[in-house]
Amino acid sequence: MDYKAAFEGALEKIRSEGRYRVFADLKRHRGEFPRATWTKPDGSTAEVTVWCSNDYLGQGQNPVVLDAMHKAIEEAGAGSGGTRNISGTTHYHVELERELADLHHKEAALLFTSGYVSNEATLSTLSKILPGLVILSDALNHNSMISGIRAARCERHVFRHNDLAHLEELLAAVPHGVPKVIAFESVYSMDGDISDIPATVALAKKYGAMTYIDEVHAVGMYGPRGAGVAERDGLMAEIDIIEGTLGKAFGVMGDYIAADDAICDAIRSYADGFIFTTSIPPALAAGAVASIRWLKEHNEIRVAHQERAAALKARMEKAGLPVMPSVCHIVPLLVGDPVHCKMISDILLEEHGIYVQPINYPTVPRGTERLRFTPSPAHTDEMMDKLVAALEELWVHCNIKRVGGVAA
Ligand SMILES: *Cc1c(COP(=O)(O)O)cnc(C)c1O
Repeated sequence: MDYKAAFEGALEKIRSEGRYRVFADLKRHRGEFPRATWTKPDGSTAEVTVWCSNDYLGQGQNPVVLDAMHKAIEEAGAGSGGTRNISGTTHYHVELERELADLHHKEAALLFTSGYVSNEATLSTLSKILPGLVILSDALNHNSMISGIRAARCERHVFRHNDLAHLEELLAAVPHGVPKVIAFESVYSMDGDISDIPATVALAKKYGAMTYIDEVHAVGMYGPRGAGVAERDGLMAEIDIIEGTLGKAFGVMGDYIAADDAICDAIRSYADGFIFTTSIPPALAAGAVASIRWLKEHNEIRVAHQERAAALKARMEKAGLPVMPSVCHIVPLLVGDPVHCKMISDILLEEHGIYVQPINYPTVPRGTERLRFTPSPAHTDEMMDKLVAALEELWVHCNIKRVGGVAA
């Protein structure tokens, strides 16, 4: 067996489809979000504006967060030193879980090392606790949820994205008394749509199902205290398990679920992805607490964030750019072809100092390749004007190429 050839062949397959991923080597400038220095493959550098960060509010640079992290390092050192069970539960972790429970008005919260891990660990563990479980999953759920649901090895049904009639049809087909969990997200971050939480909760009640919501792209950004869309809609109490990340709008890293005591305690006790891994460093936990507390009190940043997203959408629409319908802070621009998508992204970076990563399959379906912009409160009108002017120019350029058949 020629192992090397097999790996090279796998890469060639991706390259030939135009979706080979190249990471941008960036160094952010503290205090100047969203500016960064890009180190090019040849070692030279250029200044860029970042347009695709999931640090949606720039909290990764909020002095309040940094101070808390510095202080924790001074007080308690670098790593946590163990799994939660074996010496890795520090006072910082306990305090963060309390803060998260309070944020979501739940009895408890349970920390994980990332959102990927928390979705996988929690969803896969539910079937251990609920024998005979049936999971109903939205078709556009994140890869980490799909992975957890597969690992649950229980009966599962996928309902068409946001299609409540389809969900009801599937729920009705499950015999009464069989445990059911509806797994869905609030903000779907690739399209920028938001699920119908009230209707989903009503169906869950009608058919006796539990609800599991991924609010990763909403925590910090929606609701009067930044607890997410369920808070905005006044429905946090009706959701059984709320999952959120500390790595996006909170600007740090790590993840959690918030739920009743018994749920968190059972997941704590059964989930391999929780049990068998080193807990997050104390400094991360301290930074997260500071970030959550700050965002609870600063609703004006959420108002500013929504205004910036609306401002960018309006500019793109005015310019006739194919901005996809989004009801949230995410601004997706449809390209519909992986080669063009990468080409536009490359030119923006190299010639305009604008960094937006192409989003290709398997993150989105083939034929819907897009650029996904995440304007933050720190993105100015001037930055937006520059971006839209560059895009307008490129769209013309790209269409000419398409007509000419160059980018086959
Ligand atoms: C990013 C993301 C996750 C994973 O969260 P991390 O903390 O980055 O691992 C989970 N769910 C959704 C919907 C996401 O977009």
